Amino acid sequence: MKPTLLLTGAAALLLGATLGAQAPAGDVDSHIAAARTAAGLDFRNTFINLCLGSTPPGGGRGGAGRGAAGRGATATPATPDRAGWYASPYKIFDNLYWLGTRQHSSWALRTSDGIIIIDTNFAWATQPEIIDGLTKLGLNPRDIKYVLISHAHGDHDQGAAELQTRYGAKVVMGAPDWESTLQRPATAAGGVPKRDVAVGPEGSKITLGDTTVTIVATPGHTPGTLSYVFPVKDEGRTVMVAYSGGTLTGAFGTDGARWDQYIASQQKIAKVAADAGASVMLSNHSEYDGAYTRARLIGIKREAGENHPFIVGADAVQRYFTVMTECATAAKLRAGAKP
Ligand SMILES: [Zn+2]
Repeated sequence: MKPTLLLTGAAALLLGATLGAQAPAGDVDSHIAAARTAAGLDFRNTFINLCLGSTPPGGGRGGAGRGAAGRGATATPATPDRAGWYASPYKIFDNLYWLGTRQHSSWALRTSDGIIIIDTNFAWATQPEIIDGLTKLGLNPRDIKYVLISHAHGDHDQGAAELQTRYGAKVVMGAPDWESTLQRPATAAGGVPKRDVAVGPEGSKITLGDTTVTIVATPGHTPGTLSYVFPVKDEGRTVMVAYSGGTLTGAFGTDGARWDQYIASQQKIAKVAADAGASVMLSNHSEYDGAYTRARLIGIKREAGENHPFIVGADAVQRYFTVMTECATAAKLRAGAKP
């Protein structure tokens, strides 16, 4: 994306904000306005990063330790200063645990027959956040049966090989992302997992004990990006979660087909989430779902009528995907992508 074009979008947004409800002039601006409305105050960062952000190819902004190892394929990154990323683990729902850093999330879904880990963060976070995190929460890392990887970028998958090797966990990834993963050198940060479960475009379901995760292929951010819908329990009550597997679109350029694929993917996962009545919106980056902040609210006594910090409601879940769809549509137009 060209900075001048971004400025145009940002300037238009400012203008739109200044003029209040006045209709935006162009197509790009109308999609940005739709995204801004959908985002409300709930998904400001998603809106800013997707609609206004300038991102390097492959995505990825800020975040401790992101840097050169952000895509994770080659260099072995030094562990960044712990003061900049460490977060305590938290029990979020009866059977869902957050094992993230302040920037990136890993989740543990506890079932009647073991643990499903969803995304694994950088290799340097595996021990302090996932393994030690589970132990601190009274869970046993040896019970990890599956590791679901939303997409094969280093900030989400570098822990997969270690969990596979140490605990025999089966690694689940989109088929195209397995292809890129298996091409990594053996010296890649965190090592290279052996191919276990490859999910194709038709999606899949993983059942472990009493819990089934619906896996939706949502290609776009990477060709093999996976998103999820699954149940958790909130004090015994079933609550459905939508999990968005890949967010940024910075590498798409003028590739219209890729933009369209991404947009279709958001519409697909939005529909599955709606059909399931999903009222929790999770991402693998805390900047999108506020996981780090919300996790620390868990222990605070709620006022009468105040909801669980992670339950945003079915309408908000749909608005999240509208932000992604509208921002991508605006960015596609701005990039001059071929239809
Ligand atoms: Zn990524």
